[in-house]
Amino acid sequence: MKTYRLAVLPGDGIGPEVVEEGMKVLDALTKADSSFQLETTSFDWNSEYYLKHNRMMPEDGLSTLKEYDAIFFGAIGDRRVPEHIPIWDLIMPIRKNFHQYVNLRPIKQLPGVQSPIQTDGPIDFYVFRENAEGEYSNIGGRLYQETTDELAIQNTVITKKGVQRLARYAFDYAQKNGVRKIVNATKSNAIVHSMRLWDESVKEVATNYEGIAVDDVYIDALVAHLVQRPESFEVIVASNLFGDILTDLGAALVGGLGLSPSANLNPEGDFPSMFEPIHGSAPDITGKQIANPIAQIWSAALMLEHLGRDDLALVVMNAIEQVIKTRTALTPDMGGNAKTFETGDAIVKQIYHQM
Ligand code: ATP
Ligand code: MG
Repeated sequence: MKTYRLAVLPGDGIGPEVVEEGMKVLDALTKADSSFQLETTSFDWNSEYYLKHNRMMPEDGLSTLKEYDAIFFGAIGDRRVPEHIPIWDLIMPIRKNFHQYVNLRPIKQLPGVQSPIQTDGPIDFYVFRENAEGEYSNIGGRLYQETTDELAIQNTVITKKGVQRLARYAFDYAQKNGVRKIVNATKSNAIVHSMRLWDESVKEVATNYEGIAVDDVYIDALVAHLVQRPESFEVIVASNLFGDILTDLGAALVGGLGLSPSANLNPEGDFPSMFEPIHGSAPDITGKQIANPIAQIWSAALMLEHLGRDDLALVVMNAIEQVIKTRTALTPDMGGNAKTFETGDAIVKQIYHQM
């Protein structure tokens, strides 16, 4: 038996609603399989916390989180708090300090989910997004503010080490899964300093992986290809910004934000990894129990994989697929009229059915 220590950060808006369903699923697994146990602590570090304490988490927040095996995160954001605060005072410190340099985002069309695009087969690819440096660097500033000629500079930080550790992770995945080609999202024809180093670094890693080719594709062409033939992609490596954009597009191709999970991975396991849906707090639908909890529950499946329980991840994915296929308890974004908790309950029921 193993007991994993899990830090839960429900966050704001629909975050707590979908996290509740994610926890329901995890609790069901601990009941059905005594070899998998959780010791859970919930943290109220959200916008409400910020309004009370003028900070997103306590001073020792990171050292508290560090003691956990994984972080299960909902969503954060609230109209009363400036948008950059939760990103730069909570999410980024966790990603950067815990060296969660791989942002893994599966773009997978589950059976029964309609894509807005006609394809020759199911859409199923992985985006490996660089998660710790790149364009989201916070280095730069406004210059010449006194003059009418205002100027802002924002620096992109690309390090060979940073690119290569991400690339190695993507190539390892490709190797394990028989993928023969990795698409490298780039723009080195125009962004000549940082993106050239990016390309060179990816290519260098590729030399260690026989039989896996790298295809450099400019980001502008790549978004067009993703709309024209998304089914032809298997693995994409992308910088922080490019990966962010590609995966929102990807989410739209496979059923929307309510169905799109993500993992912020520290592959070495020196620090906890964090699992969250890619959607935000969605204030427009908060409190109505109409948010789709599948992205959050799928994120729990990614967490199970990371914790070495592929078997349980598979049970969760099968349960999600079953609920979608039978169209029994789907939320309005998927054309149903179920409540958030009903989707969660239906998935739990499927889990007990399987175990
Ligand atoms: P944030 O500022 O936290 O990013 P947001 O207003 O940008 O919040 P998102 O969560 O990014 O909202 O989502 C954009 C839209 O997608 C929302 O308005 C919402 O209607 C829809 N949406 C997002 N997540 C879900 C979900 N889990 N289920 C159903 N609809 C969702
Ligand atoms: Mg948003």
